[in-house]
Amino acid sequence: MNTTTENNLRLKVKRLEETNSMLELQVQARTSKLLDIVSTNAKFLGIIAHDLRSPFSSIIGILEVLRFSLKDFNKDEIEEYVNLVYNSANNTLTLLDNLLKWAVAQNIEKTFKPVKINLYELLQEEIENIKTLAHQKEIKVSTTVGPELNISADLQMVKIILRNLINNALKYTNKEGEIIISALENKQFVEVAVRDNGIGISADDRKKLFNIEKLYSVPGTRNEKGTGLGLLLCKEFIELHGGNILIESEKGMGSKFAFTLPQFK
Ligand code: ADP
Repeated sequence: MNTTTENNLRLKVKRLEETNSMLELQVQARTSKLLDIVSTNAKFLGIIAHDLRSPFSSIIGILEVLRFSLKDFNKDEIEEYVNLVYNSANNTLTLLDNLLKWAVAQNIEKTFKPVKINLYELLQEEIENIKTLAHQKEIKVSTTVGPELNISADLQMVKIILRNLINNALKYTNKEGEIIISALENKQFVEVAVRDNGIGISADDRKKLFNIEKLYSVPGTRNEKGTGLGLLLCKEFIELHGGNILIESEKGMGSKFAFTLPQFK
């Protein structure tokens, strides 16, 4: 072999080695990402198993009492039991919704589809959906959003965001409280705010939010159980749209949860 061929060969081997080590790095990065996903999924499976058990046990428990002793109860007592079952079932559905969406979020590129959404119409729909829950706690829910604001966002994700924030406002506000949903234009974005005059969050507890390693959750004013997943999911979806989530709250003074999403022009 002459020197030129030998040099060419060495160069080729060197290039191949470089490509090889680059590929190895890529494989390592992908493996570590996959391991992350697997461990996150395992964590959520644990949460699902744990969190679905307790509302289901209470739903079955109450239904069992009603099934065997229906005749012994008066109308008011039956109504109270039915409301308890309704609340448990409703919380369980929100949890399932969140978990499903989170599972989908692992594959987000395929599902993210921003469309034109009229904020006013969407809010009317969402407020209608929580009417029974609000009525039970005698909480007034209203919106100051006018019919002219349109956002560009993924419909399912915006519904999940709003549902979580409104449900939280209901959950952490005492009987006869008030929730107001407002929105304002801010350059390319629309800022939507859900305000309540509920129990609020202390500065120390605010620092505990958005930590996937240690989910933070306290029961609602009627002991409604949570998971600490909702806000994390909201943040993830909002940031995917290029927006932000902003929290203003003080213990005992109510809360404002606001988020920005792109305006549709
Ligand atoms: P969950 O409601 O299932 O506990 P979230 O992630 O939605 O989970 O909320 C995490 C925690 O943030 C709640 O447990 C509660 O302590 C606090 N929080 C959320 N929204 C409000 C609110 N509107 N008022 C007071 N605290 C809130």
